[in-house]
Formats: sequence, C-alpha cells, structure tokens
Amino acid sequence: MKLIDDGFMTFDYRLPIYNWFFPINYNEISESTREKIGVNNFNIFNYAGSDPKFRALYFHIPFCEAICTFCPFSREITTDSQMYEDYTNALIREIEIKSQYSNVSSYPISSIFFGGGTPSILKPEQIKRIGEAIHKHFDLSQIKEFNYECHLTTVTEDRLKVLKEIGVTHARMGVQTFHPEYRKFFNLVEDTNIIYEKVGLLKEYFDYVSVDMLYGMHGQTIDDFIRDLHHVVSLGTPTIDVYPINNVVTQVKLSKELREKNMEATTGFSKSQFNVLLRNYMKENGYHPHNGHGYVKVGKDILKENPVVNDTYRFQYHEAHYGYKGHEIIGFGSGAYSVMDGYIIGNTNVTKKYVKGLLEDDHIDMKLNEFDESICESKGISFHLPYHGEAEKAKINFDKVRPEVLTRLQEVIDKGLVEEDETHYRLTELGWNWYGNLLYYLSPNSEQEALDNYIDRGSKQKNRFMEDSNINLNYELQQEEEEEEEEELELV
Ligand code: SF4
Repeated sequence: MKLIDDGFMTFDYRLPIYNWFFPINYNEISESTREKIGVNNFNIFNYAGSDPKFRALYFHIPFCEAICTFCPFSREITTDSQMYEDYTNALIREIEIKSQYSNVSSYPISSIFFGGGTPSILKPEQIKRIGEAIHKHFDLSQIKEFNYECHLTTVTEDRLKVLKEIGVTHARMGVQTFHPEYRKFFNLVEDTNIIYEKVGLLKEYFDYVSVDMLYGMHGQTIDDFIRDLHHVVSLGTPTIDVYPINNVVTQVKLSKELREKNMEATTGFSKSQFNVLLRNYMKENGYHPHNGHGYVKVGKDILKENPVVNDTYRFQYHEAHYGYKGHEIIGFGSGAYSVMDGYIIGNTNVTKKYVKGLLEDDHIDMKLNEFDESICESKGISFHLPYHGEAEKAKINFDKVRPEVLTRLQEVIDKGLVEEDETHYRLTELGWNWYGNLLYYLSPNSEQEALDNYIDRGSKQKNRFMEDSNINLNYELQQEEEEEEEEELELV
C-alpha cells in the first residue's frame, strides 16, 4: 500500500478488511513460559494482565438458530436446550476460576460485551445466573456500559426484563440490510416488518439501542444503498454502525452464489465513494460519526460544527479493542480470546470440549500466545488514532513506539490525513475516509506482514470472489491501448 498524489484518492489500494485484533502477529508461548505455567492453563493469568489501564470483559455465546452467510464469527447451529444449560454452567465456572487470579479480578471493569453467536438465545433464567456471577466476581463500580447482542428472533419481553435486571445498558442488533434479495443471500429473516417490531421493543427497555448495517455487497447499487439507509434511519435508534462488507471472511458459499448471479464485486474505489455518500446522508438525517463507521444521533450544534468525529458518544468496548497500551479484554466462553499486553489467549472453539473440560476437570484447552510487548506502545498511534479519530499524546511513550510507525505518522501528517496539536493527533476528514487503510499503514512492519499474509490466504481460497482493491486512476490510458489493439486486428 502506497500513498499517492491524487487529492481524495490518497492511497493506491483500499484495504478489503476493516477490523482485527492488535496484534495479529504472535507466537506460541516459549518453553520457559510454559514451564512457569505448568499444566494448569489458567496460570497464564499470573503473568498476563499485570499492568492494566482499561479493562473490558467479553462473553461469547456461540449458538445460532441459523447461519448467516456473511458472518465470520465463531458459532454453530444448536437448538439443544440441555447444551444451553451446560454451557451456562461452564461459563459460570470459568468466571469463578479466572476471577481467583488477582490480575483478572482486581482491576475495575469499564465495559462488558456479550457477543456471539446469539447471546439472546439463552433462557432468561440462564442469562440471570451469568449476570449474577459477573456481579459477584468482578468490580463493576466503574462500569460505563454493558452491551448485549440480541438477535431478531430471540428478542422477547421476558429476556429484556432480565437483561435490564443484570445491568445491561446497551442492546445491539444486526440488521445488515433491508433489501429482500440480499437478505435471502445472507440467510436472514426475510420479513423486514419484524425488524421494526423488535427494535421498537428494544427501545422501550434501553436508552441505547444500536443496529449494524453492511454496504458494498457484490452488485449493490447506490440506489440500493440509499434505500437501506432510508430504512435504517427510520428506525430512530440512538446509534447506527455501517460497515463495508469484509469479503475476505464471508462464507465462500456466498461468494459462489453471487458469482452465479453475475453480481460484480464492489471495488475498493467504489467503496470509498459509498463511504462519502454515507457520511453526507447520515448527517442530513441527524447522525454524525463517533468513529470510522459508527454514527450517533446528535443535536444541531454538532451538525453545524461538523467535527471529523464527535465525542458525545464513545463505544467503550472498542476503547479496549482499539485502545492504548494496557487497554485489555478478558474473554470467556468457547472461542473467546483474552488480549492483554504481551499475551493473546484463546479458549478452544470446540464448544463440547469447552463445556466438558470445565464441568468435569476445571480445565480449558487454550491457545497460549505471546508477543513482543514493545509493540503495545505503538497501539495508540496504529489503532486508537485511526479508529477513534484521535490519540492523546500523554497516553503514549514515544520512546517505545516502533520507529517505522513514527516515520509513517509523519508521512500521513504531510499528506493532510492527520493533524497535530500540543496534546493530540487527530484525523482530518480525508483521514477519516481512509481510516481502515490508516489502521494498516500506521501499524508496525511485523503487523503489516501478518495482515498481508492473512488477506492473501483469504482471498486465494477456492471459489472466493473478491473485489479489486487497487485504486486505478489510469482508465483513459487503458482504453487507448485497447482501441489501438482493435485497429491492428482490423488491419490483419
Ligand atoms: S450474524 Fe449472528 S446470528 Fe448470524 S451466524 Fe453470525 S453470529 Fe449467528
């Protein structure tokens, strides 16, 4: 990826992905660390998480009633009620065991996120017991938000009452699109009236309700996109997240079906233009960005002032995910990851193994990984700045930021993508348009290499039908060459 000289089209390539864990480059723990930990994997928490600055908890509920074809998450179809019960008990056991480690439980929690899968698939009584265990074993005195993902078909009043009781403040729901054909492709409930009904119910219970939308699907026209925006804005939720589809991780089946219908992949070039349209459309409807893809309803004063991003709302969970050194997530559940300075710890994603291990032996198969802690100091520049639109200098030890990150930071300042004042770096509106690219461009070399490999591996999968991510500004030249070729052929 290179910076180019063309005003708005600042890069020669638009990254086809827009979120990932930092770091993506890590190694299995060394033998000496393994020896210190012994056979009990949980002992890694004697070392991980010793200097936290911000803490979030993540709880993974892997069950779904049906599999959506765009979805990259760790999940499985299960309607077995005994499995839900066993999983609930295993999750509570994991909470009890992990919280015995002071590195896990002594620091106050700022954010909680229940994701999946479908967290709202559990019975109210099961949700209640997990909530009680969290309250019992963690310090929630500083909690700023408690998020719970709800799926359309499982939003019921008895569940919402319990969510309220356990302290949930933010209900989140994936809508993705209102377009009947794409809903079919994505394997989503086809009757869109249910979206209005369930979002209405969520709004009765929670001040914060957020919905997710996708754009840039193969074959999507600007007309389709505007229709989707029209419908999602009419839901009137306080926040709306609108993401470009990540074709590296969607199901190959989806790719194949779209190809069979001759639906062209939306290019990186076009996705950039969709994003410009999106910002304008949302602004005219009273929403303003609070990060690269999240919009919040704001007052007229903010709309008039039109900052690049506004700070009336901040998604706290992403303060951990896209934060600074010491901003950490501790994960619970099958397939859940804990991301802490120097360590990435993944629970087995084989749900039966996860449940059996905990219920029979107080054990979880974990992937225990380490990484060079020095790259954590780069996270404020590499991740917080592009994602949240600003980075506070006082939170970064610049002596420890990777030199190549600082060199590239200066390049994007010179290009007008980032501005600097005494206390902060901030994205310009041009920089905001390219936030996904900046996540990559401002990352350490080792991260860039790992991302290149990840994108390369995903895009070369059999039957995957990806967009052209190159920003091609040489259309006229190519046309001339084609015309010349045709003339020569006629002569022959
Ligand atoms: S989007 Fe949600 S409901 Fe659909 S497969 Fe993924 S986790 Fe399950």
